[in-house]
Amino acid sequence: MIGLALCKSLYAIPTWTKTVALVSEHWALQRALDCEGKPPSIWSAYRFAEKLRDNGEMVNRCIDGVIAGLKEKLPSYGRDLAIDASDMPAYANGQRYVYKGGPERNWHTDPDASWGHRSAVSTRKGGGFYGFKLQMACDTATGLPVAWSVQTAKANESMFVAPLLDEAKRRRVMATTCAMDKAYDIGRVYGECAERDCEAIVPLRATGAVLKNEHRPPGCEHGVWVFAGADRKRGASKWRCPTGECKPASTWIKADRLHPLMPRESKRWKALYRGRSAVEREFGRLKNEWGLKPLRVRGLARVRLHADLTILTQLACALAKARAATARPPRKRGTHRAGPQRAATRSRRAVRLE
Ligand SMILES: [Zn+2]
Repeated sequence: MIGLALCKSLYAIPTWTKTVALVSEHWALQRALDCEGKPPSIWSAYRFAEKLRDNGEMVNRCIDGVIAGLKEKLPSYGRDLAIDASDMPAYANGQRYVYKGGPERNWHTDPDASWGHRSAVSTRKGGGFYGFKLQMACDTATGLPVAWSVQTAKANESMFVAPLLDEAKRRRVMATTCAMDKAYDIGRVYGECAERDCEAIVPLRATGAVLKNEHRPPGCEHGVWVFAGADRKRGASKWRCPTGECKPASTWIKADRLHPLMPRESKRWKALYRGRSAVEREFGRLKNEWGLKPLRVRGLARVRLHADLTILTQLACALAKARAATARPPRKRGTHRAGPQRAATRSRRAVRLE
């Protein structure tokens, strides 16, 4: 049955009914799922989904296992994270009135869905939508999810940074940095990240303090003071007079939203913030390639299971790929024509791969 669930995400099929139909038509799939000649019935598929919803910790254990395997194969997995939220429109109508000028709707097909805001994507305008939001923390190097949670759309995204980092920690993924967009530029988020030994990489919103230039480094008649390192334990960064003539020549600035431990002008900060796009790409992949979208289930519990199974499938495929890559050395096409020059490039490539 777990195979059937993997099959559902692998072929991006929105419903169990269609998945069962696909399996019952294909002998190769039945052989892979070990149910040759007697494909599962639609009812057993839905019963299985119900069992998974009731035993959430079983799915969680499965996910933990796959993530532990990924960590073993990809040592840098989860070191630098990117967090964002994305819309999952409900399989329901959220309009308040039954029709224009008509009576108010007195019941909703999906009572857990709510109205939230989403930003513009490509040619689609931003605005309100009815449904759920997927809050996700991704590894920036591989783009693979590390922790995620599905919430109703009106939930404030900045409230889920700490739970996501805690979930990553529970899975023994110790993040050192976490890139987020401007929506997360709130003092509390910086504090929550610092408590978890994780550096928040967030650009500044133009708030009152920023307009008053309070985020600028200190200065004197010798010029703007320069960054001279940060002390994580102390939770402060050191700034120095450019010529060293001032007394005292340096000062410590306590880390906060306006003065993060890693200055926003630094190359490293900029590189880490560029890594944020990994989470956006991952949303696109999950929705368009792994069947996260469209939702064909209602209620938070069912939507959560759908997201869990979809992401589990993707992670399991990534793990299988990583294991296969280390099991056999990579072979390049055309190796049968190996002349001396080709052999040289190949060995250089091998060195780089190591
Ligand atoms: Zn000075």
